[in-house]
Amino acid sequence: MRKVYLDNAATTPTDPEVVRAMLPYFSEIYGNPSSAHSWGFEAREAVERARKSVAGFMGARSNEVVFTSGGTESDNAAIKGVAFANRNRGDHIITSSIEHHAVLEPCAFLEKNGFDITYLPVDRYGLVSPDDVKKVITKRTILISVMHANNEIGTIQPIAEIGKIAKENGIIFHTDAVQTFGHMRFDVNELGADLLSVSAHKLYGPKGVGALYIREGTKLSPFMHGGTQERGWRASTHNVPGIVGFGKAVEIASEGLYQEQKEVAVLRDRLMNGILERIPHSVLNGHPAMRMPGNVNVSFKNAEGELIMTYLDQEGIACSTGSACNAATKGPSHVLLAIGLPHHLITGSLRLTLGKHTTAENIDYVLGKLEEVVKRVRELSPFREC
Ligand code: PLP
Repeated sequence: MRKVYLDNAATTPTDPEVVRAMLPYFSEIYGNPSSAHSWGFEAREAVERARKSVAGFMGARSNEVVFTSGGTESDNAAIKGVAFANRNRGDHIITSSIEHHAVLEPCAFLEKNGFDITYLPVDRYGLVSPDDVKKVITKRTILISVMHANNEIGTIQPIAEIGKIAKENGIIFHTDAVQTFGHMRFDVNELGADLLSVSAHKLYGPKGVGALYIREGTKLSPFMHGGTQERGWRASTHNVPGIVGFGKAVEIASEGLYQEQKEVAVLRDRLMNGILERIPHSVLNGHPAMRMPGNVNVSFKNAEGELIMTYLDQEGIACSTGSACNAATKGPSHVLLAIGLPHHLITGSLRLTLGKHTTAENIDYVLGKLEEVVKRVRELSPFREC
């Protein structure tokens, strides 16, 4: 059976070149980067090389990049770190209602601990309005955190505009760039970010490793207390193979990014337009133009997303849904709720995310199967009318 993986926003396959780069760092070059001998020096050199690649790819300096265990840790570290370090200046944080749980949950935790959190609404495409950001700033605002692109609907936010507003008001600005790093070219200075979260497994790197960009001078509490690794920001022995793999993944991304992005966007449009043309009563979720090159998020009237996903899985196709009770969440997608999608369209939602291995043949296969599957699911629907 043909296998088509269209869940690249969840995770990507580790590039074989990345695996090759990592392998020696398990049992050949296994020193602790903090050790003061040649085994340690060699490992440290590898970590610093990777840091240079990660920093360079986002327009940062090496000393502004701290390695973490992934996007979730980076988001937690940024949000709680700013809150704890700046409590004397204020207790108000602005974020959006469509952030990843890795941002929403630390915000909820801070709310329980006396902080005041404003969750900005979004329009029907999932866009945050910079004017709304301006309106809710108070003298007590210490942090603005708005994601670069949304993981469910792919909408890309006007981050540079929001960053400018934060700067004009002397407020620390964090952006979760987990979905965009390695898929879109950006520069931390152009975005105006003081803090920026990234994760290796979204760009064909290994799982369990990420980074937090910390602009020099940003007031932040260290987020892991213990040894002096990562200049005291993040104690714990480095995940050397993971960090080396992350560096390699970034190198590969920086070489092929432009071409890959163009090709993926063409295939995305082939899939998106194919669905909307061939499957009646289907609607696009997210922004038609300001969206991630690999993201297609659609809803089908009178069809259960979960059932579609299960049938597609049986046809060798992997995707995800924002409908109730999927594997990762406890209820219907907060993102689809925030864009005002009616309940029946949330139930019928499907996210298909393309990657660099997706081919036109695969897209055509998926279109054919999806058409059949939606028809089959609709025939089973108690509300059948289309
Ligand atoms: N932020 C966003 C936007 C994501 O899409 C994800 C992962 O899906 C994360 C944070 C969490 O990253 P990690 O899986 O590396 O912890």
